[in-house]
Amino acid sequence: MTCKKPIDFETLIAYWLGEVPDAGEALLEEHLLGCAYCSKRLERLVALGSGVRAAVKDGKVSMAVSASFVEAMKHAGLRLREYRVEPGAAVNCTISADDDAVVSRLRAPLADVKRVDLVRTRGESEVRVADVPFDAEAGEVLVVPRPAWLKTMPAFQMQMRLIAVDEAGEREIGDYTFNHSPSSRNAQRR
Ligand SMILES: [Zn+2]
Repeated sequence: MTCKKPIDFETLIAYWLGEVPDAGEALLEEHLLGCAYCSKRLERLVALGSGVRAAVKDGKVSMAVSASFVEAMKHAGLRLREYRVEPGAAVNCTISADDDAVVSRLRAPLADVKRVDLVRTRGESEVRVADVPFDAEAGEVLVVPRPAWLKTMPAFQMQMRLIAVDEAGEREIGDYTFNHSPSSRNAQRR
């Protein structure tokens, strides 16, 4: 079961969230009705539940997702590039034209943590997302940058910080540096 022109992951999510313009929606529906491959992938996305809806909506640039979301992305046949980053570490990262998405696994001591906020800094801009999903047992916060956006990006540096929040206050539990460069296959000739 394959598809010559699979609907990309972003579009499937947009369709699921009801964010595809009417004209595009009719075309998508027609494709989905006739394509077992793509409708199966959509089914698996929908099976993830409403937690993901909030995660997808929290930012257009990137989102923190649950471990089950990443599992479902894999089951749906998406090609993922994964980076595991320890607190205080820097990673050189990229996304190729063949990757459906990149998953950053931010490692952190999360055993007794109640709430985690994610702070993203790029240049002058800083965004704080409150109460992101995390996997306490695995000690990871999973972040998926928006693939369509990442594929257009030249080299840049981004910092992420994880803040544990409880009644006693806030404490930083990890900071991570991403040195992104476009993949050579995507890069334009200079
Ligand atoms: Zn299809």
